[in-house]
Amino acid sequence: MSRPKRSIIWVCVSCSAALPSVLLQAPRLPKAGETIHGYKFFIGFGGKGANQCVQAARMGAKTAMVCQVGKDFFGDNYIQNFKKNGVSIAFAKQTEKAATGAASIIVNDTGENAIVIVAGANMLLGQQELQHAQSAISRAKVLICQLEINPDASLHALRMAKENHVKTIFNPAPAIVDLHSDFYKASDIFCCNESEAELLTGMPVSSVEDASRVGLDLLQKGCGSVIVSMGPQGCVVCQSINVAPKLVPTITVTAVDTTGAGDSFIGALAFYVAHYPTMQLEEMARRANLVAAVSVQNVGTQTSFPFRKDLPAELF
Ligand code: ATP
Repeated sequence: MSRPKRSIIWVCVSCSAALPSVLLQAPRLPKAGETIHGYKFFIGFGGKGANQCVQAARMGAKTAMVCQVGKDFFGDNYIQNFKKNGVSIAFAKQTEKAATGAASIIVNDTGENAIVIVAGANMLLGQQELQHAQSAISRAKVLICQLEINPDASLHALRMAKENHVKTIFNPAPAIVDLHSDFYKASDIFCCNESEAELLTGMPVSSVEDASRVGLDLLQKGCGSVIVSMGPQGCVVCQSINVAPKLVPTITVTAVDTTGAGDSFIGALAFYVAHYPTMQLEEMARRANLVAAVSVQNVGTQTSFPFRKDLPAELF
């Protein structure tokens, strides 16, 4: 008699957009109808959820990505990249109904860019696919969601996690003005950067005091706790409307490329939430700051994310 298969429990699950990017560097942005020569071409394997998942996996979390890609060149390579990084692809579906979503980015010598994003197969990620991933979502230690897929799908996944007492980290990016109020209630940790916080609250954020104010405002909307990331300053952590928000500073480093720092931070945070459930949130944020500080010292997004072996032992 064959023994029943043991089902795997993923510690960290991300329901997110699969968004490979094609980055082109050229002296200037081409005008309409013009062809110019560039000098660098690079394929990346974002979006945000994939980056966060890869960072958590590199730190040692058992992660799975719930996403949809096309049965095409980019889809195949996207899946390969997850395999290379030890992220489970059990719920990364390849479909023939749409092409893999993609971002095309041109950057000029002064750092200006022109970006076109095509959602493609990501828009097919809906309740049916989430249902298929229910066993993973409902038994994970932590679920991460963003707003790069249909917001209804993200909210559905967050609710599914909450119903099963799975910790949720919600990164409202790219931010939308009229975010459904249930997103706040479904977020154990609501983690945004300054511009997202600004857009969501309508309040300016340019100082730690501002971040504390918007943090409390977001907290009052129903989140468990709020983290506002503040680039080289670290982040502000708000846990209760009766306790003053706390700046968790980071270290000073020579940053060469901060692209993806927010994703490195959230991936690391997910790792700590999953592996150290009794650790104080401020301590998790302090450690996530230090992981992200490593990422900004290297070029690229996933290429800059540290592996466990690259990080000091005291972070584990
Ligand atoms: P991105 O969109 O580039 O991914 P973000 O705007 O979402 O980033 P930031 O607030 O810029 O997020 O950065 C996230 C975290 O990364 C910060 O909280 C901090 O820990 C770290 N970080 C970012 N920039 C620096 C820096 N220059 N030096 C040290 N740490 C940094």
